[in-house]
Amino acid sequence: MIVPSKSAAFYNKKPRATKNFGFDPDCRDCPRLARHLERIGREYPDYHARPVAPFGPESAELLVVGLAPGLHGANRTGRPFTGDHAGILLYGTLHRYGFATQKGSADAQDGLRLVDCRVTNAVKCLPPQNKPLPDEVRRCNRYLAEEIAVVRPQAILALGVIAHRAVLMALGLAPGSRRFGHHAVHDVPGARLFDSYHCSRYNTQTKRLTARMFEAVIRDIATFLRGTR
Ligand code: SF4
Repeated sequence: MIVPSKSAAFYNKKPRATKNFGFDPDCRDCPRLARHLERIGREYPDYHARPVAPFGPESAELLVVGLAPGLHGANRTGRPFTGDHAGILLYGTLHRYGFATQKGSADAQDGLRLVDCRVTNAVKCLPPQNKPLPDEVRRCNRYLAEEIAVVRPQAILALGVIAHRAVLMALGLAPGSRRFGHHAVHDVPGARLFDSYHCSRYNTQTKRLTARMFEAVIRDIATFLRGTR
């Protein structure tokens, strides 16, 4: 098994972790998303309705990158993939392979802890119709770049093509340099990038992504990480 080189310039300097690294709870740099969150906050006063912080330890072998907070999931509970359908498959499978202490992810106070794993999103604010604009993905990318540089994951799991491209952008790679495909694997500077279809309700209900397909990806990641120790 090839172990990714740690000598890439990207990894030579590890930035100092600051409180809230890779994230700013007060960021309003995307005017469309900031306005959207204001509307959602008025409509659902008990929702988080702000940028959603990454979840998991500061240093982790695996970084999972989703698309953006879901309206009634992370945007409600304030924790990625928590409180909606997408988290059921994600945390259930992470738990099966030892990356999570429990499979449930109903709310942010459920006691769930991630083990050598961190979960984040390419875009930290809820986008209308779950569709961030390319400019919003670009603007938010500085947070993801900082997060990858601090966390230094050996494996990165991109959930969907937008997350895949956001990871490439964060690593300073051209968008076309690695092609997204479900269960595709790419070597990138300092890490190995694994692709999966997003574990959204739509993808699982249409069987575009089955539990078995998703489990195969996480199993490969676990095998790969065992080989790097
Ligand atoms: S999506 Fe990212 S860059 Fe845009 S406002 Fe939210 S945190 Fe800021």
